[in-house]
Amino acid sequence: MRVLSLGAHPDDIEIGMGGTLAKYSKKGHEVLMLIATVPNKKEMRIKESEKAARILGAELNILNINPEKLVFSRELVRELDKVMSDFCPDVVFTHWVHDSHQDHVSIAKATIASTRKNGYSVYMYEQTIPGGIVPYCFRPQMYVDISDVIELKKESVIAHKSQLDVNNEWWLYGIEGRATYRGYQIRSKYAESFEIIKDILKI
Ligand SMILES: [Zn+2]
Repeated sequence: MRVLSLGAHPDDIEIGMGGTLAKYSKKGHEVLMLIATVPNKKEMRIKESEKAARILGAELNILNINPEKLVFSRELVRELDKVMSDFCPDVVFTHWVHDSHQDHVSIAKATIASTRKNGYSVYMYEQTIPGGIVPYCFRPQMYVDISDVIELKKESVIAHKSQLDVNNEWWLYGIEGRATYRGYQIRSKYAESFEIIKDILKI
């Protein structure tokens, strides 16, 4: 299976669904992490992303969009259309469309647009941590037990050392805390959860 995960920035995907990606790659599936833009400390953050992708067993592709121009537009949808036709995913993951960060919302909307006429299942991972307060509620509709790969998820987040320096260890407590909470909801130790845009049942 070919799995595509989209994130606006380095570290978004690892925070949102690093555990799920680690599970996919451990099972031999092809995983591609696609980052739209690197807003600052470019060289360092690309290296950190490469390290994180290696930890998760994923390929990495950075679109290198000018951060000032990352908006939901025909141009962005065209970029993602190209990714879809080049990679031909079976399943696509993207940001939560109600995330507080405008770049995350742009990627979520562009993903929805570029998956409009094909047979992929499409899911949204939870709001990135740290995140602002939003007047919407994430409705977890699909869960993945990540108890066996929680250390890989944490390692992939820690690979973003520049962000660990900015956010300090509370960042990691938040990420682990949410995984614990989602795990509790499905009677596992750790989990990640998703909202469904479309789920194509293959019977
Ligand atoms: Zn981000």
